[in-house]
Amino acid sequence: MSSIETRIQKTREHILEVATKCGRSDEVQLLAVSKTKPAAMIREAWTGGQRAFGENYVQESVDKIQELSDLEGIEWHFIGPIQSNKSRLVAENFNWVHSVDRLKIARRLSEQLPDGKAPINICLQVNIDNEPTKSGFSASEVLAAAQEVIALKGVKLRGLMAIPAPSENKAQQKRPFKAIRALMDQLKAAHPEQQLDTLSMGTTADLDAAIEEGATIVRIGTALFGARDYSNK
Ligand SMILES: *Cc1c(COP(=O)(O)O)cnc(C)c1O
Repeated sequence: MSSIETRIQKTREHILEVATKCGRSDEVQLLAVSKTKPAAMIREAWTGGQRAFGENYVQESVDKIQELSDLEGIEWHFIGPIQSNKSRLVAENFNWVHSVDRLKIARRLSEQLPDGKAPINICLQVNIDNEPTKSGFSASEVLAAAQEVIALKGVKLRGLMAIPAPSENKAQQKRPFKAIRALMDQLKAAHPEQQLDTLSMGTTADLDAAIEEGATIVRIGTALFGARDYSNK
């Protein structure tokens, strides 16, 4: 088994262990964040049974998606900032978008979905710590935004996503996760007819806290593929 396959297996075991320990029986999905990593590594992870991959940079990911089009069952999740002039490429190439941070992007994805392609699953990105430099809806905007997104064709609202400010301390890591989960509960209560089942939160550094607070998709890069090199970004 390659080292990537081993890390995938270990990470899956870890996720299951943390989920079980806190009494969860629902599935916590592993999203393998492969940004900056070569297609060959994604291929190895796929061989190890991984199907869902997260990418942040449009051009880089479109090249890899083309190169890996032979991999059956592979699923592409866009998790990075979207410039509106790149939304068409995202609509054409991705199954999921976690980082919908303004209505304009949801509308463009809706209009730009190619004929015959399944609707794009989307999450609204929430700026849960109200950081001035971070994108996303504020907590107070989420319910109204969700209402509009639900009305769009071509996109299917699945839930919320957050990237809280980093913290070393687990109790501190939990605070924003709790807040977004509470928001998710409000969203579900407002739209019981929708399939709102996704809370995308947690990375290598705060995975356990996120699972304990109800994450259904954790976005893990470094623990699977090693540290990233941004020198050519
Ligand atoms: C890069 C990235 C991740 C992965 O982070 P790691 O610390 O490498 O696990 C998760 N989510 C988003 C939005 C990212 O951009």
